[in-house]
Amino acid sequence: MTAEDLFAYLPAHRLEHHRNALALVPENNDPDPGTAVFLMDPKTGYHTLSCSCKAPTGNKRKSRCPHIKQLSEGLRKVPDSGSRSWLDTLFRKTPWYETAAALHQVCPVSSQSLKISPEKVSDTGEIRVWGPDAELLASFSPDPEDSEKAALEKQLLLERTNLWPQKDNPFHRGRVMDMLARLTLTETERLMALQEVISRRQALEQSFWFRLLYHFRNVSADAGPGLVTELEQETGRYIIACTDRSRALRIVVPRKGVMRVQKQIQGIFPGTGQVVRPESLESIVKVSADENNYLRLTLYLLLHLPDGATEAIERSRLKKYWYGDAVYIPDKNVLATWKATDKFGPVFGRQYTKRIKPERVPELIDKMGDIFSPPNIIDPSAKRLRLHRKWEHMEITAEAVDRDWCWLAVSYGFGESVTVRLADIYEARRAGKKYLPVDDGWVEIRDLDLGPVVKLPGSPVSAQLGDGRKTLQLSRMDLLRIQAASGGNLRVRPQGDAPSKSLSAILDMQPATPVTRPSGMATGLRGYQENGLQWLGFLAENRMGGLLCDEMGLGKTHQVMALMAWLAENRQNPVPCLVVCPTTVISHWERKIREHAPGLQASVYYGAGREMADLSVPGMVMITSYGILLRDAAVLQGIGFAAAAFDEAHLIKNPDTKSHAAAHAIRADLKIAVTGTPVENRLTDLKALLDLVLPGYLGTDQEFARRYENAGRHRRKELQRLIRPFTLRRTKDAVLHELPEKIEDIRYCRLTDTQVRLYRDAVAGRGKKLQQQLARGDADIPYIHIFALLSLLKQICNHPASVDRRSVPKSFKTDQEVMDSGKWELFVELLDACLANGQKVVVFSQFLPMIRMIASHLQSIGVESAGITGQTRDRGQQIDRFNNDPDCRVFVGSLRAGGSGIDLTGGSVVIHYDRWWNAAKEDQATDRVHRIGQNRGVQVFKLVTEGTLEEKISAIIDRKKNLMADVIAEDDPGLLKTFSRDELMDLISLPD
Ligand SMILES: [Zn+2]
Repeated sequence: MTAEDLFAYLPAHRLEHHRNALALVPENNDPDPGTAVFLMDPKTGYHTLSCSCKAPTGNKRKSRCPHIKQLSEGLRKVPDSGSRSWLDTLFRKTPWYETAAALHQVCPVSSQSLKISPEKVSDTGEIRVWGPDAELLASFSPDPEDSEKAALEKQLLLERTNLWPQKDNPFHRGRVMDMLARLTLTETERLMALQEVISRRQALEQSFWFRLLYHFRNVSADAGPGLVTELEQETGRYIIACTDRSRALRIVVPRKGVMRVQKQIQGIFPGTGQVVRPESLESIVKVSADENNYLRLTLYLLLHLPDGATEAIERSRLKKYWYGDAVYIPDKNVLATWKATDKFGPVFGRQYTKRIKPERVPELIDKMGDIFSPPNIIDPSAKRLRLHRKWEHMEITAEAVDRDWCWLAVSYGFGESVTVRLADIYEARRAGKKYLPVDDGWVEIRDLDLGPVVKLPGSPVSAQLGDGRKTLQLSRMDLLRIQAASGGNLRVRPQGDAPSKSLSAILDMQPATPVTRPSGMATGLRGYQENGLQWLGFLAENRMGGLLCDEMGLGKTHQVMALMAWLAENRQNPVPCLVVCPTTVISHWERKIREHAPGLQASVYYGAGREMADLSVPGMVMITSYGILLRDAAVLQGIGFAAAAFDEAHLIKNPDTKSHAAAHAIRADLKIAVTGTPVENRLTDLKALLDLVLPGYLGTDQEFARRYENAGRHRRKELQRLIRPFTLRRTKDAVLHELPEKIEDIRYCRLTDTQVRLYRDAVAGRGKKLQQQLARGDADIPYIHIFALLSLLKQICNHPASVDRRSVPKSFKTDQEVMDSGKWELFVELLDACLANGQKVVVFSQFLPMIRMIASHLQSIGVESAGITGQTRDRGQQIDRFNNDPDCRVFVGSLRAGGSGIDLTGGSVVIHYDRWWNAAKEDQATDRVHRIGQNRGVQVFKLVTEGTLEEKISAIIDRKKNLMADVIAEDDPGLLKTFSRDELMDLISLPD
């Protein structure tokens, strides 16, 4: 059964249906009017018929009541009249019902709260229905061509929607429908009724919308579904209209419900073709300004389109297209919703523009964020205005600069013309302000990153400005720290006056007057060494310290000596300098000073019977070891030094050690840590060494760790900038053009006690007889025996463990433990330094046991090496490996086998472990490395034991260089013939 079928047999305008009930209302002229009701039990399908007329009751009633008769006949003619495809079920499948449900959901109104106009039903004009807030909800114009039909329909509508009072009319359609509703309550609803509550279904069924659309569905049943939506361009109303023009129903969807109704009825019936764009609106303003910085803000909407483009629309233009959380954009035919909260709308209230006084702008920014940046629209009149959140440079003005302190006014520059004083920022912050007005806008001061002035570890600044002083009192070190961290964005203002000049000099790290070349230096300085001296001079003048980290071979010792000589010449009272170094390089320092710095007095404070020299002698440089520094800490800390240099300073990099603490406790105007090992990539080492020479510069360990350890690239850069002023490292590659192709350096060492005993034993034993023979002027000289003894002594100097056991007296302990060697220690240190610098090293010795010792040492420390001796078969392979394999770091060769005819240009350092008799042979070996094709300077070390025959041979070689080069081809006893008896006797004498 369908509604249409039923309407064919029963007059539609007399039928009401509700759920599983049906009512037939009597005609107006019925003499015994009654409403016949058909009710079906939805569970059992059992149905009843009843009527309200006066016809007698009983079995015959059915035939006697014309109403029941008419109703049951109509039902009988329609097939399936008892089925559950009830009229109500069919209604629920229509767009009419869907629309009613959607409207009820967004705007649930009951008829009691509504008003109609005009109030007279007899009027054939348009009827309007007004909601509780006097808003138009619907309008209806009956067919003007059929006034009778129009009047009937109008009455039906008003009764069904209960907009017309029921009074005592028993056939009022609203009353009939209410009755059907009561008859069809579910059991649950009956129980709920006792609690005076109703189900959601009931609420919908009682609603104005439901009754309204029920009515139109029933009267339009033969006119198709007939609903469309449209948007009234003039009023912005969103309308659901009936397509049947004769009825002209127009439902005005309440604005706040448009979006939801739209969503729900989409696809049910044809709409206006609007595109719905959820989350595509953004609230922005257009900012313009007058010359006094009064702002005019105008509300705009920014519509984000799917292709990424945006379109700004003035909000006032859209006033009538506002539907709660959605806005209709007529040009685009788009219904859009917000992307984020409407941040400007609520602030503007009902207005669309606002005029803001300059002093109120910060408040506005607080509420709305930075209005001077996109996507807000900035009018050309407001282009110059901005909210500054980051300074571009720092400016410092020197108020005064004295020996210890600089008094500065610090300002921050924003753009080219605006500066704000640090003092003003602090003052404003104290006053609780967040923004400071400036010529071109406002500076956000509360969250402004003041940069290095307050951010760096150990910064002293915030406390100092706290009591309202306008200038900052900074040490020079702090000043440099701030400059370094500002990354080149520090300017000195104004230029030219005296305090500014001294300020600039400090920032450029230039001494107030350039350091002149000290007359106490016998040797000149290379260009980069001259720069190093100026840098050291600046540090000394300002009582700071630094790390001198030049690559090995660039003359760090030389630069330190030059500084000490300069200090000696420029001090009124003689103040000593201090050099602390490993034992193995004490003699190196002593000799260097003696040879190159006659203006200085080297005094070694070392050994069992050490005595303090007279420190009041001008130019005094005390040289001592780290061991003595620790042992005699109390004595040394009592002396005030002009400068203290800590050589091979990486040895005291561990801040937890006593050596570090002892070095820290030394009192010196200037401390220099000297090391050839690069430290800049090892944070904790770097921190420890800088703490030694510049206490406090990098803050506490905790501050430092928090800021820089595991830090990102940005922080790393900051740290690099911070340390750069106090770290000087030049590599050979960088200063290559200033370097000779070959730098030769003789490194001296001392015999250990074991070596002294062995040496004395050999000289006193075998040497005694030879001495006597030499002393007798006429006797033959036993060259072979002398040569053998000299070889033994050389091996003792090299390392006692390399000496043939047969040559070691039985009384002597041959335990490896006591077989120590001064030269070996020096060698190991040199080698470590070279490897740490990434150099490849070639080592020559003329003694096979020594070569084996070196090779086995390399193996034990995990360093790959190649090598050639007289027994080597795969010479070519060994050489290739050294030259081409980056992991093969060391080449160890005998001078005889590896000294000629091969190419070792992979190396850049040559160490002659022991000296050859023949300088030309040595040079030839060195030239294996230093050849054409070698593009970096070659560093050559020759190791010599002080006070032994090695030192004497070294002197003879230098003296007879040319003669020996000509005469001697081989290293054999014959070469001794060029030596006088006296020279030979001297060679086999006891050590000094
Ligand atoms: Zn009846």
